[in-house]
Amino acid sequence: MYDLVIIGGGPAGLTAAIYAIRLGLKTVMLEKELVGGQIALSDIIENYPGFPSISGAGLMEHFEAHAKGLGLEILMREVSEIQTKDKSIVLKTTDGDMETKTVLVATGAKPRRLGAAGEVEFTGKGVSYCATCDGPFFKGLSVLVVGGGDTALKEAVYLSKIAAKVYIVHRRDEFRGEKIQQDRAEAADNIEFLRSHALKEISGDMVVKEAVLEDLKTGESKTIAVDGAFIFVGITPTTGFVEAEKDEQGFIKTNQNMETNIPGLFAAGDCRTTPLLQVATAVGDGAIAAYKAADYIAELE
Ligand SMILES: Cc1cc2nc3c(=O)[nH]c(=O)nc-3n(C[C@H](O)[C@H](O)[C@H](O)COP(=O)(O)OP(=O)(O)OC[C@H]3O[C@@H](n4cnc5c(N)ncnc54)[C@H](O)[C@@H]3O)c2cc1C
Repeated sequence: MYDLVIIGGGPAGLTAAIYAIRLGLKTVMLEKELVGGQIALSDIIENYPGFPSISGAGLMEHFEAHAKGLGLEILMREVSEIQTKDKSIVLKTTDGDMETKTVLVATGAKPRRLGAAGEVEFTGKGVSYCATCDGPFFKGLSVLVVGGGDTALKEAVYLSKIAAKVYIVHRRDEFRGEKIQQDRAEAADNIEFLRSHALKEISGDMVVKEAVLEDLKTGESKTIAVDGAFIFVGITPTTGFVEAEKDEQGFIKTNQNMETNIPGLFAAGDCRTTPLLQVATAVGDGAIAAYKAADYIAELE
């Protein structure tokens, strides 16, 4: 039986693995898609201490190499169910059941859909949620970015270096993102801000051709020609298979020890209720979760 099974190979899960192995726990990580998590899809990260500027994938290669160097076993599997027993937990995975004393849910989140007409139909045909993955398809073209936070601003600046024109559409007058990101976006001469506007519809034939926007101050609609629409309007936690107590948006509730309401079940990173969804905070959560999982096991024994 394992001491700790970590579900999810993002920053929270990899940090927990480093701490758990060093604490002597028999640990395994289960990852369904890509070791590195969401940040591995970001072109650049500039707010992780010690790395003033590094690609998201590059940073996560360091995390993975560190964990593997300590002997971490990573299995490419998806977990679909967590069953609690008397003194253990059983996980249903795509490759059979696994029994463990403790589990860390570090399953992060996925981009949230905006809900604009045509958004689902044109996903993969011009509508995207990942600038690093799809940005290069828009070389010399015109794209629209929706959102007002750090990610929207940062990805708009990245896209402005590839596309000929970038529109940033945001519902409010003010942006929520860091000032440094706003300044960079404002300095780019091919970025146009459409504040107090909402994206209502995306249309085209085989691929995106137009976007219909509403001016939220006047109520007027206008149509602009674009080749792509990148949507960064927040995230939805990947917690559907977890029975622990959650908030109304589906984020897992924990205490400051990363404990859920289920004994032996911990949660860390973007999948839990937390005020800041970043790599630095996911790392802190992962460290605490591993430390507290070790305490829990010591008490069991
Ligand atoms: C475009 C973009 C730019 C960003 N820029 C920054 C930035 O500049 N600075 C910063 O600090 N943060 C940034 N972030 C946020 C940062 O990526 C997240 O806060 C961080 O990745 C959260 O880490 P995590 O380990 O909690 O979850 P994630 O990184 O989401 O990792 C979760 C992992 O769990 C796996 N998983 C999910 N469900 C299952 C399952 N059932 N079974 C097995 N595996 C599963 C997923 O495949 C994934 O690999 C950015 C995010 C995006 C999308």
